[in-house]
Amino acid sequence: MREDLKQLLIVQGLDVKIRDLVERKMATVHGLEALRKEVDDDEKAIEDERDRLMGSRVHIKELDLEIAEKKNNIIKYQEQQFKVKNNKEYTALLHEISKQEADIKVLEDRMLEFMEEAEVEDRTLDGVRADLEVAQQKFREMEVESRGLMDQLGKEIEEKEKEKAEEISRLDPEIYEMYEIIFSRKSDLAVVKVINDTCGGCNMVLRAQVLNDLYRGDKISQCETCGRFLYL
Ligand SMILES: [Zn+2]
Repeated sequence: MREDLKQLLIVQGLDVKIRDLVERKMATVHGLEALRKEVDDDEKAIEDERDRLMGSRVHIKELDLEIAEKKNNIIKYQEQQFKVKNNKEYTALLHEISKQEADIKVLEDRMLEFMEEAEVEDRTLDGVRADLEVAQQKFREMEVESRGLMDQLGKEIEEKEKEKAEEISRLDPEIYEMYEIIFSRKSDLAVVKVINDTCGGCNMVLRAQVLNDLYRGDKISQCETCGRFLYL
């Protein structure tokens, strides 16, 4: 095999390792971000649930005041009953009292509904608070672990980059430049093996001329379809 191809394969080996390390580092960052988002979502849910609960409590308070007012009215009407002079007035007051009582019944039913709602909201709030605690704990643990891992991966990437720089210095800059463009564009490899006269990268059958050049080894050969460097 040509020396420059051997050298390209060494560089590619390092690039594959670096790509893997970078991907692992990114996955770690994203994993931590996802946990952070979980904490944020739970905090937001607590806020929303708290608002709902406050709303229900305000309704309960308002209804309570309304009921108290109507109960006062009843007392007032009952006192008036003692002072009325005729039956008609008495009946009118009786009518007013039963109207207030009916109103109170409606208000009490509504208040009961809000109280039940508030109870559910209270329980939901407890649940979300517990979720938040779990999420925060998970985040704190993961943060320490992730920071360690990211530091370690960062160091490994740095080492491999240094190694790679040394190996690149042994290559023709023009060849390396071409290689780098191909490697960065492809998700796999830039230097591939020829398998049964086809390119190991794109699987296209190679022309006889390309294969002849490869066997002679006078120059470095590329696939005419995908541009990848070829070796036998
Ligand atoms: Zn190809």
